[in-house]
Amino acid sequence: MSNLPQLHSSSSTIVYPNDLQYEEKRQIWNSAIDKTPAAIAVCVTEQDVIAAVQLAKQQQWPIAIRSGGHHIGGFAMCDEGFVIDVQQLKEIDIDTAKQTVTIGAGVLAGELNAATQQHGLAVPLGTASTTGVSGVALGGGIGYLRGRYALTCDNLVAARIVTADGTCLVVNEQENADLLWALKGGGGNFGVVTSLTFQAHPIGTDVFAVDVLYDFADAATVFERAQAFIAQADDATVAVNMTVAVLLPAPFLPDFLHFKKVIMVVALYNGDVQLGEAATQPLRQLATPIVDQSGVMPFLQLQQKLDVMIPPRVNCYGTSLYFDDLTPAAQQALISVATTSPIPSTLIQLWSLGGAVNRVASDATAFAVRDAKYVLLVDAMAMNGEDEACQAWLRDLEQALRTVSNGTPYINGIVADDTVVARAYRQNKDKLIDIKTKYDPHNTFRFNHNFVPKA
Ligand SMILES: Cc1cc2nc3c(=O)[nH]c(=O)nc-3n(C[C@H](O)[C@H](O)[C@H](O)COP(=O)(O)OP(=O)(O)OC[C@H]3O[C@@H](n4cnc5c(N)ncnc54)[C@H](O)[C@@H]3O)c2cc1C
Repeated sequence: MSNLPQLHSSSSTIVYPNDLQYEEKRQIWNSAIDKTPAAIAVCVTEQDVIAAVQLAKQQQWPIAIRSGGHHIGGFAMCDEGFVIDVQQLKEIDIDTAKQTVTIGAGVLAGELNAATQQHGLAVPLGTASTTGVSGVALGGGIGYLRGRYALTCDNLVAARIVTADGTCLVVNEQENADLLWALKGGGGNFGVVTSLTFQAHPIGTDVFAVDVLYDFADAATVFERAQAFIAQADDATVAVNMTVAVLLPAPFLPDFLHFKKVIMVVALYNGDVQLGEAATQPLRQLATPIVDQSGVMPFLQLQQKLDVMIPPRVNCYGTSLYFDDLTPAAQQALISVATTSPIPSTLIQLWSLGGAVNRVASDATAFAVRDAKYVLLVDAMAMNGEDEACQAWLRDLEQALRTVSNGTPYINGIVADDTVVARAYRQNKDKLIDIKTKYDPHNTFRFNHNFVPKA
């Protein structure tokens, strides 16, 4: 640990490559990304973040921001630049009267869900406990509550952010409202967010959820019937997640399910628990189920369902695409690519959209994609050196889905390339570049889906 420049609080540290903690601190979820920053500021308070940004400004270091460290593109780390690590900003403050929640930028989704559920409340988050709320929210945030309450970013009502000049700004509808608009989907382009305030919703602690396993051999029927059901269902109440996966051997699985390729259909009924069973019945009869564990369950149990399939750290190759509809051609293309996935630990997730997500105007927030009916998230997790096979399969997948998807990526599920910003931000791109130019003219925060400031 270095005694060179200090941050603000005594428990904060700056970790350099020769320090013992360096290897641990530079690790992120996607272990295929191996970056070696010049230094990592491990912040404990907002004052530490301000001190870290001011230090970077003096040294003219570019900054990467590390919260939950789960972005597939490894944006949380950089080569040679300065990482500001906000993982230890863990406050959670719930205002039960206003049903709002203010959190520190290091809170994880599982931690926030556990806290809000003590009051029967929930903030719409993603489906995994280990992701950072900050990264999820700033890039969108698609989870089970999307149908009624839209994206995580749509529920952001205020924030505090340290911008490139080292000042901390209050962001809400009254103050710096342009930044509030930009933070709703514009990612880590504008500064280090130290706290976020969300609208929470009184969902109670129990929900009705569909939880069915179908044989992948029935994929054609499952996709066709699921599409027909979703097209006529009330999209505010029913959010459907279909995941093609191979079940890895686990003590809680019977032998006949080991290494079986399945389609998991998981859906939340976001309404009166008593009505959920009847309203979602068709999802349990898409084909002959292998296992059907649908029923009333704690919301927290539903939120933790995917966690067992996600290693704490893994070499991951993934992509993301939206679909305007699940046409027969799209269904066929998805089945083809799922059939050829090279390794067992691949998740091919297809989630219904619509509902509140699509009722927000495409220019009302930075997050522009408000017309797609489905989003696909693909994660090929190479656990035994299958990295090249995963990358080759992913290239084939992108080619195969090019014409049947709408070609737009979900920015929280795709690595950076020259085309992503224009494809994902559509008509909002120019306004985002203007806001970037105003708050970060030298592109200090550049390790992201980057809006290059105007010269
Ligand atoms: C296992 C897994 C499951 C997932 N499930 C879902 C899901 O269900 N729904 C969904 O929508 N997405 C999901 N995602 C994608 C997820 O939304 C992104 O990976 C997201 O970036 C994770 O945020 P993080 O804080 O963990 O990541 P980080 O890598 O720490 O952050 C990503 C980037 O966000 C920005 N950022 C983060 N914190 C701040 C901050 N405080 N201030 C400014 N910028 C910041 C920075 O650019 C940062 O580099 C999943 C990802 C994984 C790996």
